[in-house]
Amino acid sequence: MCGASRLTLTQTPTARFFCHCEICQEVYGKPYSDATVVNASTVTISPDSPIIYENYWSGLQRGICSECQQPVVGLLAIAPFIRAAFIPTIVLGERFTAPKASAHIFYHRHLRPVVDDIPKINGFLKSELRAASIALSGVYGKTPNK
Ligand SMILES: [Zn+2]
Ligand SMILES: [Zn+2]
Repeated sequence: MCGASRLTLTQTPTARFFCHCEICQEVYGKPYSDATVVNASTVTISPDSPIIYENYWSGLQRGICSECQQPVVGLLAIAPFIRAAFIPTIVLGERFTAPKASAHIFYHRHLRPVVDDIPKINGFLKSELRAASIALSGVYGKTPNK
């Protein structure tokens, strides 16, 4: 967001979701996060980017820009050779057209009700499963199933 941290993507994101979990609320400073998913192998992070990674229990590494404190990229190993990169949709800017979000996950944690036609997933396990499914779709450049 401040320009200090830079990513290069070679895959157009096809998967996107909103997450209402408490960690996202804290990290993003918003009622929910808005992220797209691509294959981590298609993302190049400029070596001079001042990104600090924090590890979360789920195995997700959240990269925060130390200049502006905004999330830049999250990395998650789905399987030994498959890693997903979560890119905040706002970071994509105008260079990519963001795909339509396929779910609101961790909706039971919502701070503010959302009125739209996107499925609301309640419950921890259901949210985790949906997140994994969306992440896999994103990694393979597919549109997630409803
Ligand atoms: Zn979350
Ligand atoms: Zn920054």
